[in-house]
Amino acid sequence: MKIMGRTKRNLLGVMAAAFSGGAGTSAPARSYDIDYSSAEWRRRLSSEQFRVLRRGGTEPPFASPLLKERRDGTYACAGCGLALFSSATKFDSGTGWPSFWKPVDGAVAMHADATGHMRNEVHCRRCGGHLGHVFDDGPKPTGLRYCINGAALEFRNDEA
Ligand code: FE
Repeated sequence: MKIMGRTKRNLLGVMAAAFSGGAGTSAPARSYDIDYSSAEWRRRLSSEQFRVLRRGGTEPPFASPLLKERRDGTYACAGCGLALFSSATKFDSGTGWPSFWKPVDGAVAMHADATGHMRNEVHCRRCGGHLGHVFDDGPKPTGLRYCINGAALEFRNDEA
C-alpha cells in the first residue's frame, strides 16, 4: 500500500510539473497576467467567489447550481474569464462538486495544497484564482478527477 501511495504522489508530481510550466519546471508561477489587489478582487467578485478564488476556500458540497448543468459549453474562470473546462469533460462524481477529467490545455496550474503533502491544488493559470483539487481516481481516459468549486466557475452556453 505504501508503494501505491508513493506511485500516486509521483504521478501527481509529474503532472504538476507538466501543468505548472512545461518540462523541467516544477515551481508554480509566482506572478499572473491578471494580478489585481485584494481590494479590487473584492469589488469584482461576490463574497463567496472571493472566499473561494482569492482565499482558497471550499464551497459546501451540493451547493453549486452548476452540478446540474448539462448543456454543451465552457466553464470559465469566475475571476478572469479564462476558459478552464469543457462540458465534454464534465462528469458526475457524486462528490457534490462539479467534476471534470481534463482541463483546457494550459488553463490551469497546480501547486502543493496547504498541507504541503500533495501537489494537487488547482488554480487558474491567468489570475491565480483557487479552483479546487485534482485526484487520481477519475474516469477514463485520464483517470483524473478535477474537483472544482462551482463558485470559481462561470458557465458559457455554446447552444445558440
Ligand atoms: Fe482566472
